Amino acid sequence: MALSLAAPAARWYRVAGKGARVPTILIVEDEPEITALLCSYLERDGHHVLTAADGEAAVREVEAAPPDLVVLDLMLPRLDGWEVSRRIRALGPVPIIMLTARDREEDKIRGLDLGADDYVTKPFSPREVVARVRAVLRRNRHEGRDAVLLGDLTVDFRGQEARRQGEPCRLTHTEWRVLEVLASHPGQVFTRLQLIDQIYGYAFEGFERTVDAHIKNLRQKIEPNPREPRYVVTVYGAGYKFAANG
Ligand code: CA
Repeated sequence: MALSLAAPAARWYRVAGKGARVPTILIVEDEPEITALLCSYLERDGHHVLTAADGEAAVREVEAAPPDLVVLDLMLPRLDGWEVSRRIRALGPVPIIMLTARDREEDKIRGLDLGADDYVTKPFSPREVVARVRAVLRRNRHEGRDAVLLGDLTVDFRGQEARRQGEPCRLTHTEWRVLEVLASHPGQVFTRLQLIDQIYGYAFEGFERTVDAHIKNLRQKIEPNPREPRYVVTVYGAGYKFAANG
């Protein structure tokens, strides 16, 4: 494998399994160059990418297996993006990022009315699309919740902070991400590799112990008694979980 040429001590790879499932993104776009560009950026960012070149194909794809997110061009052959969006919405709650050459305000309002989660106008930077895909997926991972409350702890997803008895916990970015991932799925166990994968996008083998250090620091800030954690709990031989109830 080409990866072994550089052979660093740490290897990165996607972790298959619960809690670190690779998100599937459906790109609906009739211009092959744009599809190829988005495809390569999204795949490099660790997503599994499917494509559809017209509106009917897009609806068929979503019917067959709903993806985690749809990047939807508005100007499409067969069915336009508006109609595709309406039909996808009728099938289920799949997040949609609309893509269009038009930047008229009325289109944005109409798109958001139809349930688009975000909107990108062409010409766009592929990096911007990747960032928005990540943001929408992250929002969606909280299952629509703005916050989780447990004991005296509030994990505020919308405000991106944790508070104990109303006082901000002053977490580092990484500590916040660890807590955000765990608290988004109360009761679900994450291995160290899965946590690294969720936080950085790739799992770095050999860095599992750094997770323990972040957890230790996190507990100092959020737990009433860090020696006997109530919120971020160790599951011996497996990893960590956010307690399902206090
Ligand atoms: Ca188009």
